[in-house]
Amino acid sequence: MSVISIYSYPDPSLRKKSNELTLPLPGKDYAIEFINVMRKANGIGLASRQVGDDRPFIAVTRNPEKGNDEVEFAINPRILKVSRDLQIQEEGCLSLPGIWGLVRRPEEVYVSFTTLDGSKKKIRAQGLEAACWLHEIDHLEGVLFIDRAFKITRGVDLVSSFHGFKL
Ligand SMILES: [Zn+2]
Repeated sequence: MSVISIYSYPDPSLRKKSNELTLPLPGKDYAIEFINVMRKANGIGLASRQVGDDRPFIAVTRNPEKGNDEVEFAINPRILKVSRDLQIQEEGCLSLPGIWGLVRRPEEVYVSFTTLDGSKKKIRAQGLEAACWLHEIDHLEGVLFIDRAFKITRGVDLVSSFHGFKL
């Protein structure tokens, strides 16, 4: 039985900020379960805030539009650089079921993080994967995509805090 469950908006956990994680790192079994919870919910990303865990970590699927199922488990992720070119993706969130919106974000991103074995890693992501990294890192700051969406496309009646066209 799964001990991890996804919290739904407006749970206060989603608005908390995560602190920098020193030790101990999440264990491998925990990470595998976290990723499984994300996959079972048909998500391509998940952040610790969404399961009520104060430690800063996220899971992100690499190249999701290619049907890839390789997932990066990233502890203390940091945005190193973003492109000036922007993209618009229709985003959803496992913590905001039924709500979708258009979000403008950088087209490309470089992120550094700590892996499960404690080593440092850097990745470069583009397109939907870049949006996913930025979406999940936002979660660690208590920021939701509805805060950045310039248009809610589906489920607008479910979003009490959406003031519309906020860039
Ligand atoms: Zn989300």
